[in-house]
Amino acid sequence: MQSAQQTILRDAMRLLNLTRDALTERLGVSRRALDSWLLPDNSNEHRSMPTIVERFLAEILSQDTKVAPAHHVSTANWAPHLLSVEQFSRESVEELFRIADIMQPVARRQKTCRVLEGAVLANLFFEASTRTRISFGAAFCRLGGSVCDTTGFTFSSMAKGESIYDTSRVVSGYADVIVVRHPEQGAVAEFAEASNIPIINGGDGPGEHPTQALLDLYTMEREFSRLNKLIDGSHIALVGDLKHGRAAHSLAKLLGLYQGLKITLLAPTGLEMPASILDAASRNGNVIECTDNLASGLAGADVIYATRVQKERMQGEVMEGYGENFQINLRAVDTFCKPDVIVMHPLPRDSRPGANDLSTDLNQDPRLAIFRQTDNGVPVRMAIFAKLLGVDQQIQHSLRDISWVHPQKLGPNDASFDEL
Ligand code: ASP
Repeated sequence: MQSAQQTILRDAMRLLNLTRDALTERLGVSRRALDSWLLPDNSNEHRSMPTIVERFLAEILSQDTKVAPAHHVSTANWAPHLLSVEQFSRESVEELFRIADIMQPVARRQKTCRVLEGAVLANLFFEASTRTRISFGAAFCRLGGSVCDTTGFTFSSMAKGESIYDTSRVVSGYADVIVVRHPEQGAVAEFAEASNIPIINGGDGPGEHPTQALLDLYTMEREFSRLNKLIDGSHIALVGDLKHGRAAHSLAKLLGLYQGLKITLLAPTGLEMPASILDAASRNGNVIECTDNLASGLAGADVIYATRVQKERMQGEVMEGYGENFQINLRAVDTFCKPDVIVMHPLPRDSRPGANDLSTDLNQDPRLAIFRQTDNGVPVRMAIFAKLLGVDQQIQHSLRDISWVHPQKLGPNDASFDEL
């Protein structure tokens, strides 16, 4: 289980922008000791960090950062609504990730938390969804709240011609926060204009999917921590339908908050990333490379972020060049990539024959991070609710042990890489 000790250490590495090796040097401890303090409490190798080290760490933090981590308050303008990643600064992203770290034991079903007891979430999904709708719902329930759902136009009064304005105003009288997914770009912002409660963008057509990109970035940070790497200076390859993929759009914009990145955009002709997003990604000295050559594009990458071809957004567009030689599979990863590459995907992956989406032949491979990525959707979305509804300071004190037997190892053991 993740305890206050792990949260303190992760937060320190984030605030000081240090890898695990660099932090061990600052603290004068061995890498082995630091790894053992970062392990889940229930691991056999877990050790408690000595109080003297904790005090020394606090001293380093107060010298090197202008504000102490406990009072590290975001200046970003991302409330009352969360519509776009453009609302985030580097500081507010890091603050959100610190809260997500605190949420980990609740998301992993080791602790309970009731800070949102009595609150209601309305999930309004006018487009297909599995992960986003269910993980938002699970995140809210795990904080003690309740969820009301409506899915598809058919089962809402929009099928009777009701406007976005009326729907949004009505639902904002029933709930405390609304998550909206809609097939049209800009539609979620329209919901926000009519609502007197916070609206979260759960995906607006080919526009943005901010919470997906935040959990993607959080996943990269956690995977990199175990591999002794930082996001700054890394090489990220985004692969696939970069024209219509809203998750890739939001992620590319967020990467623009980091420094010295190489971002390779690997898309077949006709599915390239829109120019406005390239501008956002190339801030802070980031180098952008656009190519349709899988072999050269993947060489040296620290992360492959594969995406699905968004056929539902194509209107008569001819899709060329998305053949077998564009597929991310075991052969491509073994042949073109560094041995410690991380393979991610916002999912769903299209597993039908001929789709050439991310192959299932990587399923048993530890480099495949897609299910650790989906798991991270819950703590990140809990952190978003906690910030939007102003309960983030209450979490730590409200954690209680669970009262039920939580099955540890029933199926694939792909989630336990904290212990590597
Ligand atoms: N689930 C993601 C989205 O809603 C990615 C996808 O559908 O391909 O955008």
